[in-house]
Amino acid sequence: MTLNDIEKSLSIFENKNNTVQQIYDSRYCNFCGACIHSCPVDAIEYLDPQILVKDNCIHCGNCLELCSQNQEVRYSKQMIDVEKNDQIKDFHSKIADVPLGRFIEIWNGSSSSRKTRNRTMAGGITTSLLYTALSENVVDAVLIPEFTENKQNPRGKLIANPEELLQLGGSKYLPTLSLDRLDEIANNQDIDRIAITTLPCQAYVIKKMFLDTQYEKLVKKINLVLTLFCGSGIPYRDDVEFFLKAKGVTESLSELKVIRRRERRIWRINPQDIERYIFITKDGKEVSISSSRILRCKTKPNCSTICPDYTGYFSDVSIGASHISANIIIARTEKGRELVKLAIEKEFIKTKNFSKINNFLINFMGKNKRDLKRKLYREFFKNKQV
Ligand code: SF4
Ligand code: SF4
Ligand code: SF4
Repeated sequence: MTLNDIEKSLSIFENKNNTVQQIYDSRYCNFCGACIHSCPVDAIEYLDPQILVKDNCIHCGNCLELCSQNQEVRYSKQMIDVEKNDQIKDFHSKIADVPLGRFIEIWNGSSSSRKTRNRTMAGGITTSLLYTALSENVVDAVLIPEFTENKQNPRGKLIANPEELLQLGGSKYLPTLSLDRLDEIANNQDIDRIAITTLPCQAYVIKKMFLDTQYEKLVKKINLVLTLFCGSGIPYRDDVEFFLKAKGVTESLSELKVIRRRERRIWRINPQDIERYIFITKDGKEVSISSSRILRCKTKPNCSTICPDYTGYFSDVSIGASHISANIIIARTEKGRELVKLAIEKEFIKTKNFSKINNFLINFMGKNKRDLKRKLYREFFKNKQV
């Protein structure tokens, strides 16, 4: 990634004739699902999960202003302040050089339930925190990714029953449209408070919506935002097609049936390899690809080339893998810290102090996004001001 990539992506936002169509077509979209709420003439359509701006667009610019990939808004107005973290030095000398964004407390931990741990990539903390929020009546419902039959990608699903959450919880590795459901949540009389699992980009766009009165009604029920660390972005449909072609499938993705299976293989320890996508061709041939293969796609660039946020600065709790069977848990707000403490008290999760090994991993995994990209954005905006 270079300064040119940043300039190219930001130039899309500068042209007032553009829409989110250009963000999608340039492969920068992360399918956060927010822009659909920004359009005054309902011109934006999501098609599992392609974005299509229809001809009735009046080029008002609202969608580009809200888009979570609009780093101009991010850097010129808020980001540098959010990235500063003087508390780190006081908190723990070992992690003084890790720019994690503002936080209150940090732990290393895992779910107390083996079943939950087995369904997830690392320690199962996200599922356990959501379970705590539901079962202890902190929220009325949670919004999580779920695979629906015949769809290529997961969709956001609202769940009010903690036991149902345990059945559906677990890591998903494909783009999940979930913020497009905010209007449905706002109009649901049975729900007053929700917790939402997001990627850093979605947490950022939620924050933007909180700050803009036109979206007030849509976000007011969001009580907790839990963010997963995101290092390499999400794959596109063409990435999946790339792998299918390599396996001899000539049909297009829309012509294939897809099912998802977890296949435990003794020599696989990474749950991304255990989770398989089975594509079924018209003549009944089954082609199986692991989610880790789909993630290691070849047809970059995509959203991660311009995304500077690895840990989710705008969430209540950020969760990442620290090593196999354990998570890093970062409480950024008092609400977030209360949730983690409640989960500890109820013995839904087990925690340890954040250690040197976690520091090393977070540094290693997030280096590209945190250091390189942030420096480039700062350089870009500094040059622009001169
Ligand atoms: S009308 Fe405005 S918000 Fe809708 S697609 Fe066009 S530019 Fe975007
Ligand atoms: S990143 Fe989000 S807001 Fe931007 S175009 Fe994609 S779905 Fe819309
Ligand atoms: S890299 Fe991850 S956090 Fe960043 S835009 Fe892409 S999906 Fe979102």
